[in-house]
Amino acid sequence: MSEKNTKQDKNNLMEKIVSLCKRRGFVFQGSEIYGGLAGFYDYGHYGLAFANNIKNSWWKKFVDSRRDMYGINSSIIFNPKVWEASGHVTGFLGTTTDGKKFNEMFKTQVGVGEDALVAYLRPETAQGMFVNFKNTVDAFHPKLPFGMAQIGKAFRNEIAPRDFIFREREFEQMEIEYFVRAEDWEKYFEYWRSEMLSWMEDIGLDMTKVHELEVGDGDRAHYSKRTIDFEFDFPFGRKELYGLAYRTDFDLKNHKLDHIDEEKSEKIIPHVIEPSMGVDRSVLALLLSAYTEEVKDGETRPYLKLKPNIAPVICAVSPLLKNKPELVEYANTKVYAPLKAEFGRVAWDDNGNIGKRYRRQDEIGTPFCIVVDFDTLSDDTVTVRDRDTGEQERIKVKDLKNYIKERIN
Ligand code: ATP
Repeated sequence: MSEKNTKQDKNNLMEKIVSLCKRRGFVFQGSEIYGGLAGFYDYGHYGLAFANNIKNSWWKKFVDSRRDMYGINSSIIFNPKVWEASGHVTGFLGTTTDGKKFNEMFKTQVGVGEDALVAYLRPETAQGMFVNFKNTVDAFHPKLPFGMAQIGKAFRNEIAPRDFIFREREFEQMEIEYFVRAEDWEKYFEYWRSEMLSWMEDIGLDMTKVHELEVGDGDRAHYSKRTIDFEFDFPFGRKELYGLAYRTDFDLKNHKLDHIDEEKSEKIIPHVIEPSMGVDRSVLALLLSAYTEEVKDGETRPYLKLKPNIAPVICAVSPLLKNKPELVEYANTKVYAPLKAEFGRVAWDDNGNIGKRYRRQDEIGTPFCIVVDFDTLSDDTVTVRDRDTGEQERIKVKDLKNYIKERIN
């Protein structure tokens, strides 16, 4: 294939993803009815479910299943002294095309009149952990090593927001600050490197498209002594998906915070390993990993091959015909209601013919489509169609919950 064709295909792929996201209620342009605002996007019902599943999987692995991690949900606007101490007021600069430097933090004001304070929307969630370091230590008395984790919004006045939800001005981060003794930093850097890779596999990223880049001396953030970028082959190039940074004791030192090691009765400033992941870039990279086109009998069937724990919908329930009250009644009360109560992420789909419903659910990434037809009324079985193979099975209604549970495990 020529280079020109490859580039065209990649552009087409992005166009297909952006249009699928709008058509199927994943992601919309922000303020669209007023012409949009560059760098801002809104998540629709399915995009929200998808992003929530990603966040839940992250929280489960890195917080709930561990004994050494403490969650925090800090405010977005801090006393501006935080950003002076962290180095962001002087160091968080972007360079414009005509060579001018400007600060990427969004400014706002707190209070009114002459007493108003110039403040900033946080450009990273990380400082929310550092400024609550002492509170967390005092409340929970953790021993080193231990970590703090936060999922939340971050804001950056990016000079050139682009590539859909890849580079936004408002986005969401999932960050961990892991506090270690200075001499242990290399060990834990390696440890978090492999933990991050294992989570990427868990959620279903195409690992052949993930590459590690050792970030050189001149390119690291002002606080970092070592950084690895986990890059992903996006259609618009190989770009940063996540980062892993060794922040040394830079932040705690600048906030004048330290830690008493109770066992050794000594005062130390812990060093920090920071795995940092973007929710929106995860959404985009997963959509690109999952997007598949199957060509059969001259027809193209696009579908999202998402893992069931990440897919926005686990199963869709359909009465074969929506104008047959006995089918609708059965599908609603005996199939949809119990599955909805069990799994939550269950869709009711009676729009258009069955073929159209399958196509729609394929694009949403729904692993199973369940159809209630006339046979169901006499034998209490339904058709379950598999998203990836298109194969259909007859399953007893009373076995549906277990069938789905087994399949998703
Ligand atoms: P880049 O070099 O692409 O600007 P960065 O190195 O500034 O990214 P970090 O400061 O390390 O990014 O932020 C941590 C994570 O937050 C990134 O790995 C990415 O997943 C996400 N992220 C950062 N900036 C944006 C943005 N403008 N839009 C969406 N996600 C972002």
